[in-house]
Amino acid sequence: MKRAILLKYGEIILKGDNRYHFEDVLRQQIKKRLAPLGEFSVTCAQSTLFVTAEDDALLDAAYPLLKRVFGVISLTLAYAAEKDMDAILACAEEHICPLLAGKKSFKADAKRSDKRFPLKSPEIARAVGGRVLSVLRENAPKVDVHDPEITIRVEIRDDYAYLHAGQERGAGGLPYGTSGRALLLLSGGIDSPVAGYRMARRGAKIDALHFESFPYTSERAKEKVVTLAQKLCRYTDEMNLGFCRLTDLQLALKAACREEYFTILLRRSMIRIANRVARHQGCKSLVTGESLGQVASQTMDALACTDRVADLPVFRPLIGLDKEEIIRTAREIDCFETSILPYEDCCTVFTPRHPKLTPAEDEILAEEAKLDLPALEDAAYKAVTWMKAR
Ligand code: ATP
Ligand code: MG
Repeated sequence: MKRAILLKYGEIILKGDNRYHFEDVLRQQIKKRLAPLGEFSVTCAQSTLFVTAEDDALLDAAYPLLKRVFGVISLTLAYAAEKDMDAILACAEEHICPLLAGKKSFKADAKRSDKRFPLKSPEIARAVGGRVLSVLRENAPKVDVHDPEITIRVEIRDDYAYLHAGQERGAGGLPYGTSGRALLLLSGGIDSPVAGYRMARRGAKIDALHFESFPYTSERAKEKVVTLAQKLCRYTDEMNLGFCRLTDLQLALKAACREEYFTILLRRSMIRIANRVARHQGCKSLVTGESLGQVASQTMDALACTDRVADLPVFRPLIGLDKEEIIRTAREIDCFETSILPYEDCCTVFTPRHPKLTPAEDEILAEEAKLDLPALEDAAYKAVTWMKAR
């Protein structure tokens, strides 16, 4: 029997005339994601995407990859039966009954988008539920129409009747790349990969920029960032990953400026350089992993002070989240274990003992005037190197 992976999409349905564009991007994303596995067909009908393959076994390999495609709210592996009740019931018996093993309760649901089908949805559901009960007998889960552990679904579509049970949640969000391009400031920490994931999930196409201060930061710290970018790529696409060396700028800051301003000055330089990189890359915003009050550089005053040097919007998708919540997502996207590897970050190399919490603009400008920052930033900007993470 032929199988298909059915993917339902959520918010795209609300997109009015743009909907077809979103559907198309989603279809392309899916095709691209599955291309390394082999040949697949991806078609779209009535808010559902159907993924099939000549070589049916490929679907088992495709399924886990599709769980990471943004824009999909649920997915399931379905069996395609001919559109007559005998075939549907035979399919339920052979393929759906085994999926109920060990379940405590179930219900059967039917949806008839082909209204020419002679039975109505409740009748189809009743017949399928009845067949399951009679096949499984004393091993059958009990029927619970309100809160079943598993739901059997029969979808009477134009081509086939699709049967499935145990629909799973998809990655959610909007199709990757439908919300414009953003530059993620990617450190080796826990927060920034999560911030990138959150923005990508809302459809932003992500480029990433990492600041390092070799030899104060190591080659291994850099490899860790590459690994994090690669982990993000499992949800996105290949990613432009840039490296910007700040060593000279940091040494100059350290020599010329007051220690308590060091962090804020460094962050302003980072944002200025990132803003320029973003413009060059065609990115329309910057993204950071900052969360209100997490550290001295993330007080409202400090954030406002760094924002002032960017003309692009700086998005902070984690601003209202606790560390616990951020860590939960970091684990879900498999970044946490990499993020906690103990390599130094350029921000921690010359951390002041008592960073300024409420930096005054005129004092910051006075500190910045002590050295030729534009020249130092220009040199750092021009030395940015790029790689593709995939
Ligand atoms: P993270 O866990 O993401 O490193 P953090 O809590 O350690 O964040 P900071 O070091 O203050 O916080 O950094 C705040 C944000 O600034 C990061 O989330 C990231 O977006 C950006 N950032 C910090 N260090 C770097 C870096 N070396 N390269 C690129 N971006 C950085
Ligand atoms: Mg950090």
